[in-house]
Amino acid sequence: MGLFDTFSVPNTKCPSCGHVFEADFQTKEFECMLDHITVGEDVRDKIEQWYLHEWSNQVNNYECKLTIKQAEALARRYPHLYDLRKYDKKDKYNWALYRFAGQRDRNFSWVRYGTFPMYTSCLKCDEWYDAVGLIEDYIFKGIKK
Ligand SMILES: [Zn+2]
Repeated sequence: MGLFDTFSVPNTKCPSCGHVFEADFQTKEFECMLDHITVGEDVRDKIEQWYLHEWSNQVNNYECKLTIKQAEALARRYPHLYDLRKYDKKDKYNWALYRFAGQRDRNFSWVRYGTFPMYTSCLKCDEWYDAVGLIEDYIFKGIKK
């Protein structure tokens, strides 16, 4: 019925004319739920998130009870369950701990490793571009080389 999922790859170079563009590749390999993901994103949804601050363990509802060191250890020990990220890149003290568990909304959230056919057309020369998408360790890596 013409449905698909979209995998966006910035800085895609057209193999026909060399034009560099932000490609929205489509694929019908999964359940075609119009889900969308961009290179570098985790295919799983982040369903729980806590904030950590270097100077304190208690602030708001979402405050993590762990210190940053403890959260780092947790993320290192269970890399597929937890992810520790800077909440605000400009603020060196704010971190967020994400936990991936329970509901996963994207129809391909279960794919840990995989390749799949995807296609787009060049925004300049309009040539069809068939590529192979790559998911590695739950991260959409872009076009398989
Ligand atoms: Zn082109």
